[in-house]
Amino acid sequence: MEENERAGRCVVAVDGPSGSGKSTVSRRLAAGLGARYLDTGAMYRAITWAVLRSGVDVTDAESVAKVAGEVDLRIGTDPKGYGVTADGVNVDAEIRGPEVTAAVSAVASVPAVRALLVARQREMIVNAGRIVVEGRDIGSVVAPDAHLKVYLTASEAARATRRSAEDAADVAVTAADLARRDRLDSTRKADPLIQAADAVVLDTTELGIDEVVARLRDLLTGRGVA
Ligand code: C5P
Repeated sequence: MEENERAGRCVVAVDGPSGSGKSTVSRRLAAGLGARYLDTGAMYRAITWAVLRSGVDVTDAESVAKVAGEVDLRIGTDPKGYGVTADGVNVDAEIRGPEVTAAVSAVASVPAVRALLVARQREMIVNAGRIVVEGRDIGSVVAPDAHLKVYLTASEAARATRRSAEDAADVAVTAADLARRDRLDSTRKADPLIQAADAVVLDTTELGIDEVVARLRDLLTGRGVA
């Protein structure tokens, strides 16, 4: 870590369940720091899009791993707007759709898919130098030596309300989907969603985005890395 700091490196790991505010907070924090931003959920979603397109059954781990190994996945790291392509097709809109959202936790539970994406993520982190990375296993698996690990939470009701507003979907349907994904993401064997022991936990239920970002900036300043 000391060597990283001397070289101006800064890695912030932001984990937590859907609707906890990870994406908005991470993008804003990265933009303010002049850092890159990596949305690892978008990578799992893009692989899921490719799996669905191939017609493979998402519960067939071997076939899912094969598709994941063959797809040409590219993702930008500009916090002001990043694009995701799979085999040259821009999938920014499709990966947020209901089909991908329903299947992504199954695809993300396949160990070979995780190994592949974790390796890609680590490579991108090293190349970026200063980066905010959001996901489920960033502080615990992808970047265990991050300068700051944050675990964002929020009440189930707040998370469902936020997500349903973003997706223009029914709150009850969104709440059920979040509960289903939380369960799958937290109980899978490979790299489950967990709170890293050294993560700073922030409950965002009653906090505005700017307030959360300001707290994280203060923490980074306190650690002498931003
Ligand atoms: O963050 P987002 O909701 O886009 O993530 C979609 C899904 O991707 C999660 O529900 C989870 O199954 C998976 N994921 C993961 N590990 C990450 C990021 C996302 O398993 N680091």
